[in-house]
Amino acid sequence: MIANRLAASRLGWIAVRLVALLAAPAGALRAQGEAADDGWNFDDFEEVDPTLFELFGDQSLDIGVFAAFATLAMVSFLRKSIPLKYVTLVVCVLYMGFYKSQLLSVVNIFSTLTGNLPIFSYSMAWYAFAGFTVVTLVLWGRVYCGRICAFGALTQLIDAVVPSRWQIEIPEKLEHRAGYIKYGILFAAVGYYLVTREIQFYRYIEPFWMFTLDASILLWVMLGALLVVSVFVRNFYCRFLCPLGAALGLVSTLTVFRIKRWSECSQCALCEKTCEWGAIRERKIIMTECVRCDECEILYADQKACPHWLLEAKRKARLKALGSSAEG
Ligand code: SF4
Ligand code: SF4
Repeated sequence: MIANRLAASRLGWIAVRLVALLAAPAGALRAQGEAADDGWNFDDFEEVDPTLFELFGDQSLDIGVFAAFATLAMVSFLRKSIPLKYVTLVVCVLYMGFYKSQLLSVVNIFSTLTGNLPIFSYSMAWYAFAGFTVVTLVLWGRVYCGRICAFGALTQLIDAVVPSRWQIEIPEKLEHRAGYIKYGILFAAVGYYLVTREIQFYRYIEPFWMFTLDASILLWVMLGALLVVSVFVRNFYCRFLCPLGAALGLVSTLTVFRIKRWSECSQCALCEKTCEWGAIRERKIIMTECVRCDECEILYADQKACPHWLLEAKRKARLKALGSSAEG
């Protein structure tokens, strides 16, 4: 009886071992082969590296939630829906900001320049996020700034709740000149990094650490001052100081799908006043500054506000009147 039980348990063990061998990757089989020379000893199993598929399984929830957020952002962008845009901004601050603390940073520019990117198999959700940013950047421009960056989303929400009479309009010339500061910060930061290979200074030029709530008193004071200025000057950090925004702006000069303009746009300055990012100058859209916020495009589509449609309606009425007088 006991002999039968022993035989049965040995057969069961052999079956388990065969299944494990068939399912294991080649590298793991080699490692196990060396260790198995001394017989049937469970203790000789070495740790097996997880397959790419298993790693994807572990990260699938993270990737899925980001895909859902990216879908929301794209639906709001493509439909030009203002309510959906604000839902996206709130979700962005809560999910991308406080929950995940996942923002692109000037540090990612350093690591791209030196080829020191995260290992793909352990960072699939990060690659989905970075890939989404690059693809939307090439296709439409700085969609990342307009909807995916948690700090940009936070300042856009501040703008939405602050009474417009509090906001200070910066003189145009000063605004244009101040727009170059961010490029100066970008090139100085990249140059400093390439010479010293030191990255800790990034916290003094980017406030993105705020979502981790982990910083020195000096950084909190700097952040407080920045947020106070942002109450009075719209999107202050994004427009004048952000080195990452500057880098994305430089790439967005290659954007495929630009914002359409009417022939009347060369005469009218209504959208120039609508743009809160100072991205329309002398009737032209400056791609480096534009964050695809939708404001001007919503205006172009408004048949009661955009002069293109008002002139079109007048033209049609005139033609109709001419037609009826000719018939009469
Ligand atoms: S300019 Fe900088 S802070 Fe502003 S939205 Fe873009 S990346 Fe974010
Ligand atoms: S309003 Fe300005 S920032 Fe917004 S999409 Fe138009 S040009 Fe770009």
